[in-house]
Amino acid sequence: MMRSFPTHPTHGSARMSDLRRTARRTHGFSESVIREMTRVAREHDAVNLAQGFPDFPAPTELKEAACRAIRDDVNQYAITWGTENLRAALERKYARWYGMEVEGTREITVTCGATEAMAAVMLALVDPGEEVIVLEPFYENYGPDAVLSQATPVFLPLKPPNYRLDPDRLRSLVTPRTRAIVINTPNNPTGRVFDREELEGVAEICREHDILAITDEIYEHILYEGEHIPLACMEGMRDRTVVISGASKTFSVTGWRIGTILAPPALTDAIRKVHDFLTVGAPAPLQEAVAVGMDELDDSYYEEMVEGYRARRQALVPALQEAGFACAEPQGAYYVLADFSALSDEDDTTFSKRLAREAGVAPVPGSSFFSVPERGHNLIRFVFCKRLETLKEAGERLRDFAGRR
Ligand code: GLN
Repeated sequence: MMRSFPTHPTHGSARMSDLRRTARRTHGFSESVIREMTRVAREHDAVNLAQGFPDFPAPTELKEAACRAIRDDVNQYAITWGTENLRAALERKYARWYGMEVEGTREITVTCGATEAMAAVMLALVDPGEEVIVLEPFYENYGPDAVLSQATPVFLPLKPPNYRLDPDRLRSLVTPRTRAIVINTPNNPTGRVFDREELEGVAEICREHDILAITDEIYEHILYEGEHIPLACMEGMRDRTVVISGASKTFSVTGWRIGTILAPPALTDAIRKVHDFLTVGAPAPLQEAVAVGMDELDDSYYEEMVEGYRARRQALVPALQEAGFACAEPQGAYYVLADFSALSDEDDTTFSKRLAREAGVAPVPGSSFFSVPERGHNLIRFVFCKRLETLKEAGERLRDFAGRR
């Protein structure tokens, strides 16, 4: 069965009682499977390796700065597109890490998480009927974001186990209606960090066909191999790339909802309008705290964070393999996509729910990362942004589960 993302769904009768009728644009996608699995985990008291949020503390510097900002009465609306301090800190961030020159006054928008960022960008830049190319497997929001903008998502399946991006296959999907390509690196859920050759291929296609790149770089600082290369830094790409990131993963503050968008001024104007009418702005005191974190945390913070994640990866991947899952070490981000064919021939959703219930470990069913659910039916995704004890406990539970079969 094809999981379609219809832009103008036709089901939903006009005669249906108005009390039960919902807008057609919502009929093209279902509830977030990631959040649903978090609820399933709670129900069974399972270790939640489904939703990507840390169970360890955020850096003290950020927490202190947030409390200070609230006590100093930074409690009203911030400037809609972001506080001056945070936009200035973002200028320094992009100079520090990538040698980019960024104008905070004209090129940055601060949003309620990268999730709002992606939705606002598509609503602002993609016209109904235009196509947005998404690499598959993909983070589950991109399809619905395209649908909300009445665009058509076009999927490019990447092949396991390497999930390499082949520019020729990408080029074959380009049509006169292609408006944008979404690139998420380091990647959720595959863990791929796209290399220079792959990204050069994307850049060439964008330049050749006058296409925008929308990059989701939320895991930019979490990588174990290779280097993070912002597509915007490649030749001719600065003017056609929208860079999305945020504080959630870098500073372990997923609940603060601070996302960022860097885009050329003309695009930023439209993005800011959409953002303003959607949410007015991201939480003012938390923006101040993120600015402090960006400026005050030195290289050792980033090195220790990566070392911490490397140790967590080492705690989870071998445990999964021992329990009978086929999976590789991710190059970046904090997810493992695992093939469970050796353990069960159930479909991914049935198996995920059983794993939560019987093993006490909740993953995300693989089909939620594919346009055609069958492509993910032998896969589940685990996160490892958890304390070592949490991961050890999960590993033991999975080993017991596998031993009981
Ligand atoms: N990005 C995280 C994940 O993939 C969290 C998603 C969310 O719930 N917003 O699990």
